[in-house]
Amino acid sequence: MTTRRTALRLGGAAVAAAAAVPALGPAATAQPHRFDPKPGSNGVGDPLFPTLGNGGYQVVHYDLAFDFTPVTYDFTATVKINARATQDLSAFNLDTDGHTIDAVTVSGRPATWELTSGQSGQEFTITPARPLHDGQAFTVEVRYRGNGKAPRLGLTGWRFGTDGGFASAAQSSRADTFLPCNDTPSDKATWTFHISAPKGFVATANGELTHKSRRADGSTVWHFALRERMATELIGIAVVKGTYLYGTSHRGLPLRHIVPQGQEEKYGPVVARTPDHLAWLEEKFGRYPFSVYGVHIYDGYTDALENQTLSLFSTNWFKPDANGRPGYETTMVHELVHQWFGDSVTPNDWQQAWLNEGPAVYYAGLYGEERGWSVLEDKMRATYEKLDAVRAADGPPGLPKALGGTNIYDGGALVLYALSVRAGRRKFDTVMREWVKRFKDSTYTSEAFIRHTVDVTGDRSLDPFLRDWLFGAVNPPMPGHPDWKATA
Ligand SMILES: [Zn+2]
Repeated sequence: MTTRRTALRLGGAAVAAAAAVPALGPAATAQPHRFDPKPGSNGVGDPLFPTLGNGGYQVVHYDLAFDFTPVTYDFTATVKINARATQDLSAFNLDTDGHTIDAVTVSGRPATWELTSGQSGQEFTITPARPLHDGQAFTVEVRYRGNGKAPRLGLTGWRFGTDGGFASAAQSSRADTFLPCNDTPSDKATWTFHISAPKGFVATANGELTHKSRRADGSTVWHFALRERMATELIGIAVVKGTYLYGTSHRGLPLRHIVPQGQEEKYGPVVARTPDHLAWLEEKFGRYPFSVYGVHIYDGYTDALENQTLSLFSTNWFKPDANGRPGYETTMVHELVHQWFGDSVTPNDWQQAWLNEGPAVYYAGLYGEERGWSVLEDKMRATYEKLDAVRAADGPPGLPKALGGTNIYDGGALVLYALSVRAGRRKFDTVMREWVKRFKDSTYTSEAFIRHTVDVTGDRSLDPFLRDWLFGAVNPPMPGHPDWKATA
């Protein structure tokens, strides 16, 4: 699995390098490696955020100790990063925004550092006392502090509730408002968290709650471990006046949800729908990819977000729709789909995001249809009619100019719908099921999805078919629906 991951991450560069090797011949491989430390790059070349993330190393593990005081929003924190150099390094960057840095060490030795303004937040350049060798494992420890409401250079990932607490909503580039990190979805790592909460509050984080420890001041430190790798954008830390509600899926997966204190009776039946949602999706995609799941319902957030193992929802979602139906369940299914598409299988850069949002919209639509609430084909037709105009303004689904538009969401679902009609539902279902199995705990590109679809179906014509749908300036004809036309 490592081979595939490396090849995918390097993308075009890996292909170019592989092609160049035979031409250079044995003389090139005989060259002794000369230690030549240089600074790592200040970005990984994400088309939508060129300076997001950093080059020259890959993170293996983050350990975050976060000591937060509700109401004042002050915090002190320490992040310990285990990483491996991917080049000889004289210096390297982390992404950060709005923090006061107190101390930095690299592999136990004090390091020098400086903060400069970046494209989205700040670049945090660390110069270790001794340069690092390509392939060398090293640790970085940063002690820092700040205030949740302090001004920042970019948008913030902090969301504040009426309880004086907060929850993190970091997608797509704002994990750096919580911790110095390599803030790119291409660099996934395992995580441990130690989050303190005073009496009356609870803490959350991704993964399993391993234990709690009491401190002399009466506060509690909550310790969590996320064993599967996670991109920074998906951190789900919070300190809130909440209640943990527990359950299990039909297959025995542990579930833990956090709902507002005093509203357990209102939200208990809502979160109790999760086992049915899990069963419905596991039938389609196979086993849920992580060791725990749950939903966090919080009044400090206005949307819904697929934080890994712990989706975050606004309290505003959970009202019956105009027909008195629990239409919000389609949003619960949307975020649960993301645990496979987006969290376990993560975009290598943000221009690939249609394959996060497309499946989430498509399967939420299918769920609504099976419940008799809506008809997927009607929604897809309405999307088709408008998508030419959206492609012109915001870019096609596979080449968006920015995140958050219809092109990625409904447009991404339309690409999958077209594929399901063209390939047939049975083959389409196999493409999607095999995709999340093959790329589990890894990163992807649109190119990888095109190759995968041809592999699984044995149908080479699906390569140009998907390219037209993903990258074309206008909608191709919809298979089976020659009467569908653009109207805008
Ligand atoms: Zn989504």
